[in-house]
Amino acid sequence: MSKTLLFGGLTPIHELFIKGAVEGLGYKAEFLPNPDNVSLSVGREFCNRGMCNPTYYTVGNLLKFLIEESKKGVNVEDEYFFVTVGACGPCRFGMYETEYKHALREAGFKNFKVAILNQTELSSDGDFDLTPSLIWALVKAVWIADIIRDLGYQLRPYEVEKGSVDSWIKVASENVYEVLKKGAPVIKTVALLEELRKDLEKLRFDYTRVKPVVSVIGEFWAHTTESAGNYHIHRWLEEEGAEVRPEPVAGWIDYQLFIEEEKLKRDLRVKGFSLDKVKKLVAVKAMAAVFRGLYNLYRSVFYFRPKPLPSQRKLAELAKPYFDHFVVGGEGHLEVGKHIYNLIYRKAHMVLSVKPFGCMPSTQSDGAQAKVLSDYPESIFISIETSGDSEINVKSRIQMKLFEAKRAAEREFDELISELKLPLFAFRKVFHSSKPFIKLKGNYAGTAARVLYGNKTELQPYLSPLSEAI
Ligand code: SF4
Repeated sequence: MSKTLLFGGLTPIHELFIKGAVEGLGYKAEFLPNPDNVSLSVGREFCNRGMCNPTYYTVGNLLKFLIEESKKGVNVEDEYFFVTVGACGPCRFGMYETEYKHALREAGFKNFKVAILNQTELSSDGDFDLTPSLIWALVKAVWIADIIRDLGYQLRPYEVEKGSVDSWIKVASENVYEVLKKGAPVIKTVALLEELRKDLEKLRFDYTRVKPVVSVIGEFWAHTTESAGNYHIHRWLEEEGAEVRPEPVAGWIDYQLFIEEEKLKRDLRVKGFSLDKVKKLVAVKAMAAVFRGLYNLYRSVFYFRPKPLPSQRKLAELAKPYFDHFVVGGEGHLEVGKHIYNLIYRKAHMVLSVKPFGCMPSTQSDGAQAKVLSDYPESIFISIETSGDSEINVKSRIQMKLFEAKRAAEREFDELISELKLPLFAFRKVFHSSKPFIKLKGNYAGTAARVLYGNKTELQPYLSPLSEAI
């Protein structure tokens, strides 16, 4: 294949690693720049009316790139082809393929090729074959990206030296990319991550900072992207003093496999025994187990600090009274399930649900979230709509909720320290410059509280009357 494969739509770190994985299989690959509001305008100009926001951003981003390349004299139809994920719906996701083709035609690129990877059938259509080795290479790339991104969001708010975590991520990303590009097996990727962890362990973290933990959920693209598509919400929350919990892309794949498993089981129950279906069921379950095993293997390199993938069954059970898991489209029941999961298992002080303008499944979820909130009035929850404009309005609404979350985090920490009867000065003295991977324990959402609870014995020497002198 002489053409360069173009793709986009995830975070910069995911895209870099996917590029490495694809190049490792012999393709030439490039990812698109992060979408911005020019991408949105171009998308609105060439797409059909009434689409959802991710369509405008992602389609517009491709067109913007092709227009810019064409202006430089590149024959983009000969030079590139685009690969994107598709599905049969039931929301507008099912129309992405048609929308890409329509907009490309409208913009004057009628011979530009688009290949579709069907996420439900695990098949492909176009100039790109979804082979088992490609799937495995992509899984490794995406899982490592999730793990590094997760660590970044967990550690950055506590770094003693500003910028040290991002510098580590930059170097780590370049190294991981090089290894993936060589088609490295899992064992080599693990060995590399171990080396990179040692560099991370040289950095120091101030775990005495009491910060609200904010879980960012919502529609898949809107909560994943780190672009104008969600007003760069993750980094902005961090600047506002929060510790952000992003959702891993692996969770989305896990969800797809769970739904496939549930559908097969239902078919076997309702339509009767079929050997084909049993074989498919075994394959889906095996794939989910292997993928989870790999995720945990990568987590283990960092002493399991990256968050585990929550049980899909648990999320479905939690959501059940409000949203049936057979109602699919977008994130289906997940928005409701994740909200309750974060609340009752104290995974976050606040849940922010990001809904793109024109998103049908997220609108349904928001209806159900109203009932969830009346059943769990203690939840600090906010749902926002991203439309490309109204950024100030959206952020000022979030700031009001974030204020409540900050108070909740402080209350949680203050109550714990008085319950343990430990001196605050000692906590500050011991943990203001710690290694990254210290013990985090206890049923608390905040990192400072979990550090305090997990390492309380270290503070015992400070309990004597003369302790201030230690
Ligand atoms: S989930 Fe919502 S935003 Fe995403 S493709 Fe479907 S309708 Fe569009």
